[in-house]
Amino acid sequence: MNRLLPTSTAGSLPKPSWLAQAETLWSPWKLKGQALYDGKRDALRLALLEQQQAGIDIVSDGEQTRQHFVTTFIEHLDGVDFEKRKTVKIRDRYDASVPTVVGPVSRTKPVFADDAKFLRQQSKQKIKWALPGPMTMVDTLYDAHYKSRQALAWEFATILNQEAKDLEQQGVDIIQFDEPAFNVFFDEVNDWGIKCLEKAIDGLKCETAVHICYGYGIKANTDWKLSLGSEWRQYEEIFPKLQQSNIDIISLECHNSRVPINLLELIRGKKVMVGAIDVASKAVESPQEVAATLREALKYVDADKLYPCTNCGMAPLSRELAQGKLRALSSGAELVRRELSA
Ligand SMILES: [Zn+2]
Repeated sequence: MNRLLPTSTAGSLPKPSWLAQAETLWSPWKLKGQALYDGKRDALRLALLEQQQAGIDIVSDGEQTRQHFVTTFIEHLDGVDFEKRKTVKIRDRYDASVPTVVGPVSRTKPVFADDAKFLRQQSKQKIKWALPGPMTMVDTLYDAHYKSRQALAWEFATILNQEAKDLEQQGVDIIQFDEPAFNVFFDEVNDWGIKCLEKAIDGLKCETAVHICYGYGIKANTDWKLSLGSEWRQYEEIFPKLQQSNIDIISLECHNSRVPINLLELIRGKKVMVGAIDVASKAVESPQEVAATLREALKYVDADKLYPCTNCGMAPLSRELAQGKLRALSSGAELVRRELSA
């Protein structure tokens, strides 16, 4: 089954209100103990069902078992003290109180393997699993041990590689690393960020992806976007090296963004997850709007390499809105599929 334009999401989906506070990032859990464990699994089932009902081709766990896309993974590692907190500027953009790296970082046991196994049991569809990228992990911590962003990122890349191999073992088809930090620290990306990413995917047989976006639709990000001027050329800085890298798929923000779409020419040859859903807007896109973004992307991405997707995760949206957007993505992709096969 080689369906043209297979749809997927960047990763996170809203959680049910009985599990966590609705429309809130980093929302605390409403359940405890066994009830929390069961609740997360039920939420994962629902997230899967909602993707299936919307006609999404490559499904995910909707990140239902994580509070946050970076910190939940880090919570499972040794060497990070969550009691010792420092305020740092994340992605040069907003202050956050973050945990401290106090010693060598390591993973004592698999973090998401059980969740991935559970998702694999629920569906025969292709599944994609998101992990934070090494550079974005570094940018979400205060480092009092390595005192080198590059050295810490390399350690995280080693840990992520172990985790990715466990996920592959559980039957995950695509492992995605979320690297919003790639859109900010260009010199570091070119210097060591992509090398760390390649370390994280080293030896994997499944497909690999990197997601680089302009962030969730939260105020710090939308304010930042307003400061970026009429053309967002951030991708241009890192695309040449990414094109040369071993990563299979690049996931990007394209819809309602000021990214000049012709920048995609710089990664010609790669598979591209084209963001055709704006996660910062409360309006549900029409299938025609989704199709228009995909048609533009098709000028620079071969049809067999184009994967319609969302700009970013949808965790902070209402469930109803996210469901509408998933359906719009499916319908828009179907419009273009029909044109291509006509
Ligand atoms: Zn994103």
